[in-house]
Amino acid sequence: MAIKQYAVIGLGRFGTSIARRLYEAGQEVLGIDINEESVEDAEPYVTHGAIADSTEEKALTALGIKNFDCVIVAIGDDLQASILTVMLLKNLGIKKVIAKAMSKRHGQVLEAIGTNWIIYPERDMGERVANQLLSPNVLDYIKLSKDYNIEEIMVPTKMVGKNLRDLNIRAKYNVSIIALIRNSEIIVSPSPEELLQNEDLLITIGNRDDLAKFSGLE
Ligand code: ATP
Ligand code: ATP
Ligand code: CA
Repeated sequence: MAIKQYAVIGLGRFGTSIARRLYEAGQEVLGIDINEESVEDAEPYVTHGAIADSTEEKALTALGIKNFDCVIVAIGDDLQASILTVMLLKNLGIKKVIAKAMSKRHGQVLEAIGTNWIIYPERDMGERVANQLLSPNVLDYIKLSKDYNIEEIMVPTKMVGKNLRDLNIRAKYNVSIIALIRNSEIIVSPSPEELLQNEDLLITIGNRDDLAKFSGLE
C-alpha cells in the first residue's frame, strides 16, 4: 500500500481512533490539538504530534499542512473552530478534507464550504447498532446506494453442506455471492460447485429487501 500523509486535527476519542488506525497501518500521521495534554495522550499513536490552534492560518502553514494528502477535522463541540479550520484548509488547497459533524446544521455548513466527506459518528453508529439488532446474521455491510448493499452474512444453517448451484441462490433469493470467507481465507467468485461450510461468511450483493430475506433464513 502506498504511504500517504494524513493530518488529524482534534485528538479526542474520535480523532485519536482515526490517527491510531492509520498509524498502525503504516501511514504517516500528524496529530494536532490545541490542548497539550491531548497531544501527549495521542503521542504513541501518531508519527508527529503538534500543539497548535487550527483556526490560525500561520500555525497550519508552519506545520506544512499544504503537503498533506488528507486532513481530518475531528473537532466536535466547538462549531466555530471546526468550520473555520475547514475553511482555512480548503483555502490552502487541501484536496481531501474530512470533518465530523455534531448536528445536521453543522453538517450543512460543512457541506457548503466544500468539506469532501462529512461524518456523523453518533448517528451512523446508532444506525449500525440498530441494524445489528434487527439482523444478527449480518456482521458488516456497505451501503452502495439507497437500494443496494454489500453484506457479510453468516451462512444459514440449512445451506451448510450444499453447493451454490443446488441451492440456486441467485435465482431463488435474487442475491449474488461475490466471495466467501472461510477460516480467515477469502475465496473470491466461488464456483457454483463450492460446498458451503459451517461458519462460512458469505459476501453478498443485492437489493436491501432481498438481502434482508436472505439473512433472515435460519
Ligand atoms: P471526542 O468526542 O472525539 O472524544 P471531545 O468530546 O473530547 O472529542 P471535542 O470538542 O469533540 O472533544 O474536540 C476534540 C478535540 O479537538 C479536543 O481534544 C480539543 O482540544 C480539540 N480542539 C478544539 N478546538 C481546537 C482548535 N481550534 N485547534 C486544535 N484542536 C482543537
Ligand atoms: P445465472 O444465469 O443465474 O448467472 P448460470 O446459468 O450462469 O446462472 P451457473 O453459474 O452455473 O449458471 O449457476 C447456476 C445457479 O447457481 C445460478 O442460477 C445461481 O442461482 C446459483 N449460483 C451460482 N453461483 C452463484 C453465486 N456466486 N451467487 C449466487 N448464486 C449462485
Ligand atoms: Ca465529544
